[in-house]
Amino acid sequence: MSDTLLAPKPSTSKFTPKQVAVFYFKSLLTEDGDPTSLQACKACGKTRKHMPKTGYTNLVSHVRSDHLNFEAEMEAASTAATGTLLPWVRQKASNRYAWLLWIVKGNLPFSFVEMATTRRYTNLPPACMELLGCDMENVTKAVEKNIGAMLPDKFGAILDDWTHGTEHYMAVYACFELNGVRHCPLLSLAPIINGPDDRLNAESQVAALAAFLPFFW
Ligand SMILES: [Zn+2]
Repeated sequence: MSDTLLAPKPSTSKFTPKQVAVFYFKSLLTEDGDPTSLQACKACGKTRKHMPKTGYTNLVSHVRSDHLNFEAEMEAASTAATGTLLPWVRQKASNRYAWLLWIVKGNLPFSFVEMATTRRYTNLPPACMELLGCDMENVTKAVEKNIGAMLPDKFGAILDDWTHGTEHYMAVYACFELNGVRHCPLLSLAPIINGPDDRLNAESQVAALAAFLPFFW
């Protein structure tokens, strides 16, 4: 299957139609407690038709037109109740997160997710290796953006070099103080000898710094 087929559809809403409908509507029952085909909006009492196992368009369109702040209200209600936005995390995102965490914590190759034995012994829905790589890249970009947002104009750099086998690596930590608290986020961990002409000297260290620093701005 190609990446395009597996790629998630771009969405402009923070919440799925089902989440919006479940948050705003409740089933309207008859006096005897029997279900009806109507759902009542918990915010304004208006009713909308909704048959089981059909889409949520009818319900969501009411929320969109009559409760313009619905996304903020849903977020606020959720954080007030649970202290997190976790209840609103989409199942798909939650599954991807589980795969990423497994790969990273276990130091496993991406191919692990497509192995027949993995598939056989996990309850997680199938994941595609390429797509997981894209997710990992997106997570990296998001982390870089977050670190970049808190980096002051001037900060110290702590370098940690070591050789493993024939590869020489350099780890770079930014070092700065923010509101009286010391922060040392890891900015980069990569080999610094990449070409045949590269030497292990000050120039190659500076070149490595210059190569990744723009990712944080
Ligand atoms: Zn309403």
